[in-house]
Amino acid sequence: MSTTFYLSFEVVPGDEGLVDKRIEGAQAHCWVVEDDPVSAVVMATYRVQQSGWTIQSQDAPPVSVRLEDFCERDLGEKSFLEAQEYGIAVFIVAHTPAKDLHSDAPTRQKPKKEFDLSDFIRTQQSVRSQGRCLFYQKTDKCGDVINAHSIQENGALSMIARDGYVYSISPNYGDIKRNKGRPSLARIHINKMSVFRGLCQQHDNLLFRPIDSVNLKPTLEQVFLYAYRCILKERYAKECAVVILDQQLKIFDGTKATKELLEGAREGNELGLAGLRQEQANYDESHQQGRFDDIRYVMFESSRIPTAVFSGQIYPDWGFNGEPIQDLGDRQSQRSLLTFSFAPTDAGWAFLFAWHKASDAVCRFFISTLQGAIRSGRSVEDLLFALVVKGCENIAYSPDWVERRTSEEKRMLEEAMTHGADFLKLVDQGYLSSGIAGLHEWSFDSVRDNLR
Ligand SMILES: [Zn+2]
Repeated sequence: MSTTFYLSFEVVPGDEGLVDKRIEGAQAHCWVVEDDPVSAVVMATYRVQQSGWTIQSQDAPPVSVRLEDFCERDLGEKSFLEAQEYGIAVFIVAHTPAKDLHSDAPTRQKPKKEFDLSDFIRTQQSVRSQGRCLFYQKTDKCGDVINAHSIQENGALSMIARDGYVYSISPNYGDIKRNKGRPSLARIHINKMSVFRGLCQQHDNLLFRPIDSVNLKPTLEQVFLYAYRCILKERYAKECAVVILDQQLKIFDGTKATKELLEGAREGNELGLAGLRQEQANYDESHQQGRFDDIRYVMFESSRIPTAVFSGQIYPDWGFNGEPIQDLGDRQSQRSLLTFSFAPTDAGWAFLFAWHKASDAVCRFFISTLQGAIRSGRSVEDLLFALVVKGCENIAYSPDWVERRTSEEKRMLEEAMTHGADFLKLVDQGYLSSGIAGLHEWSFDSVRDNLR
């Protein structure tokens, strides 16, 4: 749940010439709506620097505030309300001997328009539509790249669709803008859902026939292929993200603060891509040698009607009770990756965790934290639903289910979906232990694995 934080900085004009140098010093008052105080400081720092100021010190730690705290204080009240609308409000009170700069009212720092969201989305669409086959053995038919589905269209998506439509995170500029930059749910045709252009026709058919035309039994080959598809899709997404950020950086002429933000995002994606190349190499090798027993899995089975279908992957960083699992800040060591997929079964559907044996230690530890949480009385359905909603963008919801939700429930769902989408935000240690219990209408009958 978001809180409004107030904090202030001592600032001086920066080197970029955005602020009149005759100002000797100033105080920047910030109101930020965030989940936690650390993210609030990160956000406020960025916005103050983006406005052309250099921060000399932070006056006090961020404090959580309410509208009542500012009653009768016009400026505080206005700023508080502005922060509710835009996520942040910044006012500057400066001192200068230059008389012509004097004013009774503090300067309001409006966010700069540095970033054209519609242009960004156009670039994104054009880069993603190019495509290339990522299969390890190239043939002359690999140029024929198709819109491969990372969630099966027939079988999975069609199980929850109504008239060919599902609900998912809207990729449209208009919807993102309407929701103030945050993801929102929209009706999407299943043809357009979960597609990626990372395989040619021939290799998509050849590779995934055992899961696209047969329900999950599971055989080890099927489990392997569910995980493999997650890896290929993410590898493709990361390759695109690096190209997109490169293109954005090439034409960017805004402030230093925003440029550094973009460069940081590029570096993060480059690092992610390097990890995925290694991960794919593990899967490629096992696949080439037919060693499907290199895969490990835990599968939760349900005979209920599914309400959501999904496929995704996470680098487990925090466990289900907030346990530290692996340090993602350590750039030298190989990260361990866990995939999770929806899979149709003869009896209904399954939630399938799968990982390569190279990631065994970390993934087993992560799963043991799930067992611990269940033993302490938490509902496995709540825990797994929260993981899917917060941990992946590749998810579609049944229209019947979405339309049964109250507007408050929809708001909670959209808020949970933004988790991790914002690169100014830190990952909260407790993100898997809190959140959106009870909405899912899930119920598992049994669980099986190959972890002996
Ligand atoms: Zn190919």
